[in-house]
Amino acid sequence: MFSQAGLARPVDWATPRDLDRLRASRGRGPLSKPLVPTSVASPRLGEELFARLLAYGTPQETHRRDVLFRPGDVDADLIVVERGSVEVVRTATGNVPAATVAVVDAGGFVGELNLLTGQNVYLRCQVRDAGTVYRVTPERLRQLMANDVELSDIVFKALIARRELLQRSAAALAVEIVGGARSSAALALRTYAARQRLIHLWFDADTPMGQTMMDSSGLTQDDLPAVVLPDTTLKRTTPGELADKLGLSYRRASTKPADVTIVGAGPAGLAAAVYGASEGLDTVLLDAVGTGGQAAASSRIENYFGFPFGLSGADLTGLAVLQALKFGAQLASPCQAVELDTNRNGDLLRLHLQGGEAIDSKAVVIATGARYRTLPLERWPDFEGAGIYYAATELEARGCTGSPVTVVGGANSAGQAALYLAGRGSEVSLVVRGQDIATEMSAYLVDRLLVHPRVTVRCRSEVTRLDGGDFLEEVSITDRTADTVQAQPCAGLFCFIGAEPATSWLTGIATGDDGFIRTDVQLTDDDLGPAWAALGRRPLPFETNVPGVFAVGDVHSGSMKRVAAATGEGASAIASVHKAIAALA
Ligand SMILES: Cc1cc2nc3c(=O)[nH]c(=O)nc-3n(C[C@H](O)[C@H](O)[C@H](O)COP(=O)(O)OP(=O)(O)OC[C@H]3O[C@@H](n4cnc5c(N)ncnc54)[C@H](O)[C@@H]3O)c2cc1C
Repeated sequence: MFSQAGLARPVDWATPRDLDRLRASRGRGPLSKPLVPTSVASPRLGEELFARLLAYGTPQETHRRDVLFRPGDVDADLIVVERGSVEVVRTATGNVPAATVAVVDAGGFVGELNLLTGQNVYLRCQVRDAGTVYRVTPERLRQLMANDVELSDIVFKALIARRELLQRSAAALAVEIVGGARSSAALALRTYAARQRLIHLWFDADTPMGQTMMDSSGLTQDDLPAVVLPDTTLKRTTPGELADKLGLSYRRASTKPADVTIVGAGPAGLAAAVYGASEGLDTVLLDAVGTGGQAAASSRIENYFGFPFGLSGADLTGLAVLQALKFGAQLASPCQAVELDTNRNGDLLRLHLQGGEAIDSKAVVIATGARYRTLPLERWPDFEGAGIYYAATELEARGCTGSPVTVVGGANSAGQAALYLAGRGSEVSLVVRGQDIATEMSAYLVDRLLVHPRVTVRCRSEVTRLDGGDFLEEVSITDRTADTVQAQPCAGLFCFIGAEPATSWLTGIATGDDGFIRTDVQLTDDDLGPAWAALGRRPLPFETNVPGVFAVGDVHSGSMKRVAAATGEGASAIASVHKAIAALA
């Protein structure tokens, strides 16, 4: 069926030489850790497995130079090469010439993770040697993933590994982001790109490389942040505009209502999506920012069950995203829910999205977590994202490495951030309002902080003033015991003083005095209106006072505010979703 040569090396990647060249010539930040070994990018399928893969596709005779897909195409097919060969090319942009990314011989297949995420095509695939290819549509690929465990394992790992390889290859030049290192608009774009694991390159506009890139793309300071794509340049752009351009905004593939729509893609929402999709529910998962939630902002989670050496929140949620995609969940971000109609229209609940679209579904899971509290200081909004951060990961910390920083808060997240930043060479002032750092923080963190040579713990203290130009440069710390005020240099203020539930978009959902959503046994008879009498049942576990609407994770009243608890609630709620949907039938 295909040649031995094809079997031995069905996909030839133009890496890693390209990466070295990229690094040397263009500069970029560190790449995220590969999720699977890159060696699985070019699987060798035996004849029997290959025949099974072909069975999912439709044959197409090819001629030299035929184009099988091109940048901008929506819903690309997996291309399986039975005879001949094809090549994948990153097309030229204003500043970079075209480059071959991979050559695929008979026995191989063309495709990467965008087949599952729905991202538009950003490379061109063209025929090198005439022959036959089989096209596997996104729908057939989902069937393959659901029905053939052996084959799906191989194909899925290959798609992930290819994304990692492409990120390290000339393909990364297909999405180039440029902006100021400390600009909040640029940080929003970079955070989005990182959380979506988008293949992209980042250029700091204040470096010679960034300037060269801007000159060759005809960009000025007024255009920043900007994204250069093969067919267009987005100026003064936002994650929403980039997502629209890449095809990652919400678009419903089916005309049928969803079984369950999950609002919020933090650990709770992701767990609900994995369990919902894996148990056959047509599952939609939305997030206003990007996947991962608060957990993606945690540089090291040390208390997650089964990981004694800790793991980064971005890795944990990144893997969960892949799992949800593998099982067929539809993910969209940035995509903000702005209203939920609590009056059922027949059997359906209607969720309204920013931008005017609406989604109908049989059940809704609210997993919107909580939003960070801020300090009531005069220039606080000016410096958000420009020196004030609510997370301490590589992205935020990069601009402050080696410079003095201030961490505000007395709980574990503040302690973790202080240690992380001190470990990167910053002098850290940990500002705690309470009398004793041990009141709210775990003992293991307190012990480490108190002996760290670069951490100064300042209890009964508060940040009372912020100063700087476009970026934060100085903070004033008031010591309530000594009654003194001290101004000190500060390249970054990392704020960890708790959060409020993200429920302002909801009406008619019962909450506690603190605004967190009450469910099942937390609800009283007064909360349950006539709809319940008609249903003849009480709320199921995690069900709110509105039938078919569930709340899980940090937004849920009395929740533990931990990743493990959030994932447990998200997964468990799906059992209730099944029951609620069955009761509708
Ligand atoms: C820096 C830091 C360190 C932490 N460290 C640890 C730790 O070590 N161990 C631990 O167990 N826990 C830790 N936590 C707590 C943990 O991350 C949270 O308990 C957990 O993320 C809660 O998950 P969630 O899914 O309920 O909500 P979140 O993670 O808050 O996710 C909610 C999601 O909903 C989205 N959303 C909100 N409103 C809307 C809307 N209207 N439409 C669409 N989407 C919306 C948000 O964008 C967000 O992505 C840490 C938290 C932080 C910030």
